[in-house]
Amino acid sequence: MPLIDPKETIAVLKKYDFVFSKHYGQNFLIDDHVLQKILKAAELTKDDTVLEIGPGIGTMTQALSEAAGEVFAVEIDEKLIPILQDTLSGCDNVTVIHQDVLKLDIAALAEKACPGKKLKVVANLPYYVTTPIIMRLLEEHLPVESITVMVQKEVAYRMQAGPGTKDYGALSLAVQYYAEPYLAANVPMNCFMPRPNVDSAVIRLKVRPEPAVRVRDPELLFKLIRAGFSQRRKTLANGLRNSSELDFTKEEIESALQRCGFPAAVRGEALTLQQFAALSDALGREREEA
Ligand code: SAM
Repeated sequence: MPLIDPKETIAVLKKYDFVFSKHYGQNFLIDDHVLQKILKAAELTKDDTVLEIGPGIGTMTQALSEAAGEVFAVEIDEKLIPILQDTLSGCDNVTVIHQDVLKLDIAALAEKACPGKKLKVVANLPYYVTTPIIMRLLEEHLPVESITVMVQKEVAYRMQAGPGTKDYGALSLAVQYYAEPYLAANVPMNCFMPRPNVDSAVIRLKVRPEPAVRVRDPELLFKLIRAGFSQRRKTLANGLRNSSELDFTKEEIESALQRCGFPAAVRGEALTLQQFAALSDALGREREEA
């Protein structure tokens, strides 16, 4: 019986006297309907090499093993390693790696596992490190084609939000700079063991071959984005002036906003990624012309 059957999950947990670690964000999936939605969103074929983050007791790994060509499953909790050896004993195309995914050399793994090709990342992510994991996968220009993950619902909504909505923020812009997000499913709390106290969602990020906008100084763009949302109730000009990461004068900011055709009192939450990019280049130009 596959592990996605709650009875089978309970049997494995009992066999190994397993105690869930809150610290590692352990909420194991026990709903086949949700598992199928994740697999569908990931669009796997036998040509694909999958990196699974946090296999737990191997529930999703069993299904990934059937759908993909090869699976690398990286798990931080050493107590789960002997369990995975047992539950995945029939899965010849799965390699379990005992590591913190934030420390794993993903580029080297991809180079060895599928030279010249890209990995597909699939995971039911531990919620305490969702954003660092996703931002690492996006920012380090790793050979990753898509990231299909279960995350806390609020985080999924923030990743795919657009200007003028309450969920829109620095995370929306950071993710959308690198990837095209698509919300694949909402997932209620009772699909996990133990039950978390938040709802979840499955989101697929299709990594762009090139960032969504081209700017002269990407670092400046991200500083502007952070400053633009750090004080949501204030104007963008105030946010930029108060940012410890930036040192533009009031005049430079006013002039750059004007160059871009934005009202002096515009708020960060009203600007699209393209508009932040225009402002970034305009501010860069102010400095050059000074
Ligand atoms: N994939 C399993 C499932 O769906 O039932 C387990 C998902 S559970 C939400 C998250 C898993 O990630 C746990 O097994 C946890 O031990 C593991 N984990 C937590 N932090 C990790 C990290 N930094 N690197 C690798 N695995 C991690």
